[in-house]
Amino acid sequence: MYLCSLFLTIRNFFMNFSALSDKLTPLQLEHATRCITRADSIAVITHQNPDGDALGSSLAMRFFLLSLGKTNITNIVPTSFPDFLAWMPGADTIISYEQQSEAAENAIRNADLVICTDIAEAGRVAALSPVLTGRFEAYESSDEAADSLLIIDHHLSSVCTAHSEQIAYPDSASASELVFRLAWQFVLFNRGFTEVLPKSYRDCADNEVPFLTSDFATCIYTGMMTDTGNFSYNSCEPEMYSIVAILLTTGINKDAIYDRVFNAYSADRMRLIGYCLYHKMKLFPEYHTALITLNRREMYRFNAKSGDMEGIVNMPLQIKDIYYSVFMREDKIPPHQIAEAGSAKIKAKISFRSQGDRPVNKLAREVFRGGGHMNASGGEFFGTVDEAAQKFTETMPKYMLKE
Ligand code: 5GP
Ligand code: MN
Repeated sequence: MYLCSLFLTIRNFFMNFSALSDKLTPLQLEHATRCITRADSIAVITHQNPDGDALGSSLAMRFFLLSLGKTNITNIVPTSFPDFLAWMPGADTIISYEQQSEAAENAIRNADLVICTDIAEAGRVAALSPVLTGRFEAYESSDEAADSLLIIDHHLSSVCTAHSEQIAYPDSASASELVFRLAWQFVLFNRGFTEVLPKSYRDCADNEVPFLTSDFATCIYTGMMTDTGNFSYNSCEPEMYSIVAILLTTGINKDAIYDRVFNAYSADRMRLIGYCLYHKMKLFPEYHTALITLNRREMYRFNAKSGDMEGIVNMPLQIKDIYYSVFMREDKIPPHQIAEAGSAKIKAKISFRSQGDRPVNKLAREVFRGGGHMNASGGEFFGTVDEAAQKFTETMPKYMLKE
């Protein structure tokens, strides 16, 4: 009885195409179809310091491609991902450039198709930047290469504003949601095309569409959840919940996913948070701004690992009348940035957050070599966090509204 009603629910979603609007255009679907159909080897790459959406979108893409009968797929991350995401389905197949640089470079160089999820700029892939830049340049300069690069992203980017066949929607809350929409519309768009959709798609009942598995759904849900702070910001778009409803029909347990991501931190991280909030948070009430900095020694003292600093930037926004939050931490200068860095021996990696109609991406772009979304951006500064903080406090009056 239960199974029967579950099938009916799924069936209704698939039968009722109005459940989701056609966000992706026919041009984008044609491009994605050409890219995927002609490719044998495919590299799927996402951004450095990968978060839940980066891994969710790129691994979901892997599962979608597998369902289309593709077998030669390499998932690549420029830098390692945090332990609290290591449980994700397919995470064990990922090649990290930090650990296997040659394999990662070769996979991108030799791939018939490179798919970038949650990035649209070659600069966001750390030391892999030169290899990916080659791909982007070839794509820009030759029609033949046009079908060898597929971008699925939700950041504003020049590549995407200039190329309407690429799937770039800055109004989308996550790249994972866009991967879901691509899979969904791709199947509807290519119904009846035997050279695109394998036999499993032709023979399946409406309630058994091959890509809609619990692995795929887990990845998409994780990305949607992490990029909206568990649906607490950027999360008012009604169709987001239609997608969640479809994902839940695969049997995934969304509460367990929350638990795995948000209740799996180390004791070191909790102590680090305490230290940041008690000792390091500086408030500028006039500008409704909070600033936290962490230098190398402090990170060492608290045994801070990749991912341990994630989310600290959001915390000061819980304070009444604080609308902007900035978090700076020190990082090594990677080999590909040594020339740019000049005499600096270290860099500051900076996160910006804001609430409401108060953009931080302009500041990130104009002062800190970065960019991002209106309420969540990032950037960097060649120098120590103290120097970066100095630069920030000088420029704050220009970018933060006094109100
Ligand atoms: P986070 O603060 O979590 O590292 O980054 C928040 C958002 O800012 C990311 O989703 C991304 O859009 C953007 N971002 C972070 N760092 C950079 C950067 O160095 N360059 C650019 N263009 N965007 C960044
Ligand atoms: Mn994202």
